[in-house]
Amino acid sequence: MKRKYTFIPLLPLLIVAIVACSNHRNKSAGSGSEEETAPKPTVQVPQFNADSAYRYVQAQADFGPRVPNTAAHKACGEYLAQKLEEFGATVYNQYADLMAYDNTILKARNIIGAYNPDSKRRVLLCSHWDSRPYADQDSDEKKHRTPILGVNDGASGVGVLLEVARQLQRQAPAIGIDLIFFDAEDYGTPSFHKGTYKADTWCLGSQYWGRVPHVEGYNARYGILLDMVGGKNAAFYQENFSKRTAGKQVKKIWDAAHRLGFGNLFPKKQGTEVTDDHVYVYNLRQIPCVDIINYDPNSDTGFGDFWHTVDDNMDIIDKGTLNAVGQTVLEVIYNEQ
Ligand SMILES: [Zn+2]
Repeated sequence: MKRKYTFIPLLPLLIVAIVACSNHRNKSAGSGSEEETAPKPTVQVPQFNADSAYRYVQAQADFGPRVPNTAAHKACGEYLAQKLEEFGATVYNQYADLMAYDNTILKARNIIGAYNPDSKRRVLLCSHWDSRPYADQDSDEKKHRTPILGVNDGASGVGVLLEVARQLQRQAPAIGIDLIFFDAEDYGTPSFHKGTYKADTWCLGSQYWGRVPHVEGYNARYGILLDMVGGKNAAFYQENFSKRTAGKQVKKIWDAAHRLGFGNLFPKKQGTEVTDDHVYVYNLRQIPCVDIINYDPNSDTGFGDFWHTVDDNMDIIDKGTLNAVGQTVLEVIYNEQ
């Protein structure tokens, strides 16, 4: 995933535009409060197990960097599909040859686990499972071509979703859920690349799925994307593309997090705008999709110092963060009717 650097010079203008825009939206949505005051049926939401999620993160890390076209990638893909089977999902595998920024053909695999596949009322949860082939943000330039372990940037979101899958098997929610592990998200044009810049070199797996979904005419009410959801001292600001295209769902998720006491991790504040899988889920399938993604306003990149470096390893993972995100996701999906 990549921050949309082009937005930086425009930031003051953009903030004005966003404030103006959200004010307008608030006014026009004035009658929506009736919905919130209506009594809701009590729902038993399962308890997310962060130890279990942590083990799934560790299991992925143990394969080594999951870079497409490597043995570790292939083995981890098998592991993930097998876990979804084990947790009772209907599993779809999408194999595709996808072209990278440097014309390398990536043997990619999107892995999808469907729960209650016959229901038309669906929510989609997704994460990317590949890890980046380059530590091109590392302070040591000699490491820029070293593949990263991608523990927070990749494995954390998938780890949380595997624990969600385990819970879905134990207790079915009222709606259908699709878990999608997108491949080839993080093979985008590296900073050291000298050739011509090609747009859309990130998120190749979700771009493929957006054009060829695993079920013809696939639709869902909305999606939630998890990216870098396991870091120590993480903060999930409201990512800008999500706010613009899935504002209602952003509110729902952040309200749920605050209700559960995770307000410190989910500040109701404007984050940055990123190119990530949610953009393609929305642009290609018109499914509003919220990116829950770590944002560090004090780091140069906006993502934290570990981002796209060799330091993205198990040492930076915090069970408390995994728990806050996982429990919030469960709270949201089990309250859907
Ligand atoms: Zn990344």
